[in-house]
Amino acid sequence: MPRLSSVALAAVVTLAGGTLQPTVGFGLHNGRVTIDLDPGRMVDSTRPGLRCGGTSGVPFVVTEPVDGSPAVRACVDVMYGAQQLWNMLRDWAGRNGFDGNGRAFPAVVDASTVNNYWNGARAGFGIAALRPRTTTLDLVGHEYGHAVYQYTPGGAGSGNEMGALNESAADILGAGVEHYANNPNNPPDWLIGELPGLGTGPLRNLANPAAVGFPACHGPIGEVHATSAPHSRWFVLLADGTRASPQRCDGGPPITGIGVRKALQIFMASLTLKSNPWNHKKARIATLTAAKTLHAPSCAEFDVVRQSWNAIGLPAQPAEPTCP
Ligand SMILES: [Zn+2]
Repeated sequence: MPRLSSVALAAVVTLAGGTLQPTVGFGLHNGRVTIDLDPGRMVDSTRPGLRCGGTSGVPFVVTEPVDGSPAVRACVDVMYGAQQLWNMLRDWAGRNGFDGNGRAFPAVVDASTVNNYWNGARAGFGIAALRPRTTTLDLVGHEYGHAVYQYTPGGAGSGNEMGALNESAADILGAGVEHYANNPNNPPDWLIGELPGLGTGPLRNLANPAAVGFPACHGPIGEVHATSAPHSRWFVLLADGTRASPQRCDGGPPITGIGVRKALQIFMASLTLKSNPWNHKKARIATLTAAKTLHAPSCAEFDVVRQSWNAIGLPAQPAEPTCP
């Protein structure tokens, strides 16, 4: 009779009646992590839909400690990042799963592309040429952030402005996951895609968009990633204030942030007020409404939301809420 390993003894019964193993793995970026896996497979049945494998869609078969090929280690990063995102949404925003209804979505590591993508049903992480930056916490949070945006009222929509707000939502959730996980191998910051492996610098700088050639202030609507930058900076100002992002497009006074957790909660509550078409002006009103609802009778959080929008150059809108 085979001996049970200590790992097998640590298995816990899942809601679905299966077993779940806290499993040690080695990511390309996150170092040694413990991820939740069904026994021997890159599947997490406690977060239904979450699994990772090659482009065939079949989840990898693994043994503990999960290590080995870059594709398998990339999936360790993906499962870790997805589980941290799930937990952040639960713990900080009271959201049940990526779709708000208890479900996650599969991922593939795609050796045929260098880019990541969300195609509406699954996340893809390009590992061609072994550019390992593609599975960092912020980039995993970004792709699954598109899933969260799609599964809030109004959906993903179309057009550059709604697409830009989709990209900023993805970056806000990607940076948020870094802050939630607080992993010393991928420490929290306001950069997206900053770890080495692809190119020379970060893909995006949420606190200082000009560092990558993007605008810091709200202006004309254009290419979605560039247009997303002021709104992403709105979140940095809300969370971390002008100490993190000094520029005020309106010349106003310094802002003291309310912290990433409160900011994320307000942002997620605003997404539940989303509609199609969605735009920056509606987003301003939705975040003010969310801050007032979450924190009444306090107006402190509401005031920082308002100041942060003013600071990116998107002023007060007709019929927006006031506090008190
Ligand atoms: Zn994106």
